[in-house]
Amino acid sequence: MPVPKRLSHLRLPSDVHPLEYDLHLEPDLDAGRFKGNVRIVVRLDRPRRDVILHAAGLTIERAVARAADHEIAARVSLQPSEETATLRFARPLPAGEAVLVLRFAGQLNQHLRGLYAASADGRRYAFSQCEAADARRIFPCFDEPAFKARFRVAVTVGDGEVAISNGPVEREEPAPGGRIVYFAPTPPLSTYLFALAVGPLEASAPRVLGSTPIRIWHVPGKGHLTELALEAAAEALARLQDYFDIPYPYGKLDLVAVPDFEAGAMENAGAVFFRETLLLLDPKTASLGERKRAAEVIAHELAHMWYGDLVTMAWWDDLWLNEAFATWMAYRVVDEWRPEWRMWQGFEHDRAGALALDGLANTHPIYAEVRSVAQATENFDAITYEKGAAVVRMIEQYLGPESFRAGVRVYMRRHRESNTVAADLWRALEEASGKEVAHVAQAWIGQAGFPLVSIGPARGETEAVLAVKQERFFSDPRIPPARRRVRWPVPLVLKWRSLDGPSVDRFLVEKSTQTITLPRAARVEWYFGNANAGGFYRVQHDPADRTTLLAHLTDGLTPVERLALSGDQWALVRSGKARIEAFLDVADALGEETDYDVIDGISGPLDLIDEQVTPAESETQERFRGWMAERFGPQLDRLGWEAAPGEDDPTRLRRAAVVRLLGGVAEAPPVLAEARRRLDAYLADRSSLEPNLADPVVSLAARVGDEALYERYRQVAAAAETPQERRRFLLSLASFRTPGTIRRTLAAVLTPEIPTQDVAFVLMRLFGNPAARDAAWKFMTKRWAAIRRRVPPLMLSRLVEATPALREPRYAREVARFFRAHPVPEAARALKQALEVFRLNVELRRRTEPGLAGWLERRMAPATPRRARA
Ligand SMILES: [Zn+2]
Repeated sequence: MPVPKRLSHLRLPSDVHPLEYDLHLEPDLDAGRFKGNVRIVVRLDRPRRDVILHAAGLTIERAVARAADHEIAARVSLQPSEETATLRFARPLPAGEAVLVLRFAGQLNQHLRGLYAASADGRRYAFSQCEAADARRIFPCFDEPAFKARFRVAVTVGDGEVAISNGPVEREEPAPGGRIVYFAPTPPLSTYLFALAVGPLEASAPRVLGSTPIRIWHVPGKGHLTELALEAAAEALARLQDYFDIPYPYGKLDLVAVPDFEAGAMENAGAVFFRETLLLLDPKTASLGERKRAAEVIAHELAHMWYGDLVTMAWWDDLWLNEAFATWMAYRVVDEWRPEWRMWQGFEHDRAGALALDGLANTHPIYAEVRSVAQATENFDAITYEKGAAVVRMIEQYLGPESFRAGVRVYMRRHRESNTVAADLWRALEEASGKEVAHVAQAWIGQAGFPLVSIGPARGETEAVLAVKQERFFSDPRIPPARRRVRWPVPLVLKWRSLDGPSVDRFLVEKSTQTITLPRAARVEWYFGNANAGGFYRVQHDPADRTTLLAHLTDGLTPVERLALSGDQWALVRSGKARIEAFLDVADALGEETDYDVIDGISGPLDLIDEQVTPAESETQERFRGWMAERFGPQLDRLGWEAAPGEDDPTRLRRAAVVRLLGGVAEAPPVLAEARRRLDAYLADRSSLEPNLADPVVSLAARVGDEALYERYRQVAAAAETPQERRRFLLSLASFRTPGTIRRTLAAVLTPEIPTQDVAFVLMRLFGNPAARDAAWKFMTKRWAAIRRRVPPLMLSRLVEATPALREPRYAREVARFFRAHPVPEAARALKQALEVFRLNVELRRRTEPGLAGWLERRMAPATPRRARA
């Protein structure tokens, strides 16, 4: 996609306002094309001879305007590189209202955007996906979020097909070979929220909440898998209506399980589309992770019905207004519904991912200038979503949840059915809380990166006084001090303990160096600088204070705080501010850790050390793996592979986390062998395995599997009973390590055996597979044209981001060279980030390998390395 160069060409003129689209579409699923008519009611601020609107990949057969009882014909010219159509009228349209009438046609594409073709079990479907700027591939329109208009939609469908759109069905009329479905008009919507699904879909029985019927739509035969999602949707919708104090605005709520879909889900008003894995779950076999993820994504999309759909950002630079809030809101809603799921503890993994990305020199502020559609696409990343959510949460905690909600309600009521910028939100929050918000919030939204907060004793003061310093954190130790001199207003929440007991105190740290005084002049036993891990910053504790803190890991800190502490410690190693031994001491201290999230949390850095620091098949690697097996193996010995009757979820999840660590990171041979054994039983009987073990067992068994097992995986994927099972076996094809299986997976990548939505995930897994990465990279470069055509922009960007998994520095050079020759505008920033991570990994290896070897030497003495056991 060529990137337009001049700003002036990227936004439509602002003096023509669409008010209503009266749209009639006729998709032909068998022929793979569609045609349509649209009447657009517009208001002109001044007379115009030309009207410019968006259209891409469409032919426009006829265009006229009706104004003041006259019909005025237009000549249509298309500007394909700018994705616009210009209607030049025989004479100027007068100021005031006019109706544009256009007849157009297009092709159903295979790329999951615009109106695209999908198939399942030999049946054909068409689905829409319009965000960020693909409504223009379905009908000529004013395709920018600030141009809100009502939609009156009618769709001609064939016999046996249904149509779903944003509004409720109003009536149906017979038509040759089928019927016309008329939908009720919508409230004003941005074009990116338009929805259409056509095909032989089936619906669950509705669950009615107040006056809103909620339905799950799916391909035939999946009705028995809808119960969990229906419940999650009803629970979320009730809580959201309550939070915003505005009833659900779109009449009915359809949740559509789409068999081939790019994103996780899309918040089309009244007709939300999802990947099947998120809506169709079998209560008997779904893992807790799958349930939580489904509930979280459903709540996220439903939060958008208010945040995004009812009140919409004026332009893509404020995308975070939609996404940060929906992300935060989803955790809040599900946490309230199922407190035992400990959603905010799980959020720590997301916060960690955002901190890692935001520690790169090539990050971006949450508020990001957007000049083109490609740049808008780039912003759908962990900064906009997860960092944004963490910052929203920090502001909520700073203002207090009641004031915050009051401000959000003011904002919603004031701007419903219109568009906003960040300042509108700050104003509402300030009114409701009486506190200064813009000044604190704007620094976090407008500045890239985040602070490293160092805390230690203040010299010459009593124990109750602590010295606090802040500077911008960079993962790259070579960034000069001048670039680190950045300050934030940091809402610091300190947890500490004196002889009188534990306390939590709040401070707003604004200077680069300052002291804080704990309110009671008691003896401070220990302190931790980010209580509840609620702040988006990293903490460096004074070394002696850190040692004291390590002695109180379990009696002083909660699991989420232990997660934050180990994550910070690892980040300090990466950034050259701590030696690797300091992280290994923390990891070692967590050997008896019983919380699954903490075990999963340290698995990330341990995997990176194994992958990037220890030379492959070296003595260091053997010892490192031996240490992991020795430290964490006893937990699995005690837990066993079978769940005890009545065992609680945290224990089940802990077993799965330990299996992932021992099998996936340490590659302990007994664990891999056991996974392989358990797999046979699982294939014979799905209930033989505790559901949370299904993912690790299927992927670990693949690592040691042969061609015969590979063939069984393919068959299971093709005949899978649930979307989760299909995904599990399909993606694990990329975990096999024999040359023959790798060749077969690569051969399948560009065939229908791998759905378009999974192509990038399969390639990413192959990059991370030591036996496959070289072949996968060569394949990708050789078949690039086909991959580029097939994989949608967001997924391409993820693929570029994943290239550092290729590990060796020579790949960094090849990746740089290749994408210079084959630029991907939507992944321009992802490429810079990937190359930076490559460099950081090389530097990390050089700097930390001797320390790692020495630590293992001491830790694993006597010198004869013990065999891995588990
Ligand atoms: Zn979203």
